[in-house]
Amino acid sequence: MRRLRVRVVGDFLGGLFAAILLPRDGHDVIVYERSTAELGGRGAGLIGQHDLYDVLGRIGSRELAQVGVEAFERMYLDVDGRVSGRIRAPQTQISWDVLYEGVFSMLAPGSYVLGRKVRRVVDDEREASKMFADGATETVDLVIGADGLGSVTRAAVTTLTQYDYGGYVAWRGLIPEAKRPSAARS
Ligand SMILES: Cc1cc2nc3c(=O)[nH]c(=O)nc-3n(C[C@H](O)[C@H](O)[C@H](O)COP(=O)(O)OP(=O)(O)OC[C@H]3O[C@@H](n4cnc5c(N)ncnc54)[C@H](O)[C@@H]3O)c2cc1C
Repeated sequence: MRRLRVRVVGDFLGGLFAAILLPRDGHDVIVYERSTAELGGRGAGLIGQHDLYDVLGRIGSRELAQVGVEAFERMYLDVDGRVSGRIRAPQTQISWDVLYEGVFSMLAPGSYVLGRKVRRVVDDEREASKMFADGATETVDLVIGADGLGSVTRAAVTTLTQYDYGGYVAWRGLIPEAKRPSAARS
């Protein structure tokens, strides 16, 4: 296969994996991430799925998902802190940061650009896609959309880009173990 100019939109796991694997086949790959900072600091509590372990195995970094905290159940507390439900849910919760930072460190220097938002991707049905980032235009062979829920890349290939507000918001956080509510101490 000839060497392709590949540009990846999004610098979280999907984008990082593409940016690590494709250069191994000789392709020229750069990742564009809209965030101006590296994406650490997301905390802990990621439940690894089979796909994650498969790709980590392919890039030779399975150990990044082997350290975690064993959880045995999920507990629901009401507004007064009383237990309103418990479900058995044995799971190993791994660290976002260990995973992200370990995978990110495998990127070749110069293969990612932070603070660059892709506004639009055009698939012109010949060999090249065009990509518009912050006013600039770039013509490449392949654009990989790893830009998550509100993907601009998806809009180049499908009209199914709408998603609807489900009517609720979930806040997710971590607290020090010593500060957990008394109901969660048993
Ligand atoms: C609260 C919560 C808990 C979750 N828990 C789990 C779990 O336990 N296990 C699990 O497997 N999955 C979990 N998920 C799902 C998991 O986070 C996603 O499946 C995963 O992050 C998708 O990775 P991605 O790289 O495809 O996209 P994303 O993580 O969405 O990353 C997209 C990246 O693209 C960047 N970007 C977006 N638009 C642009 C643009 N126009 N230009 C440039 N950059 C752009 C974003 O800044 C972001 O960095 C959870 C999700 C949430 C919200």
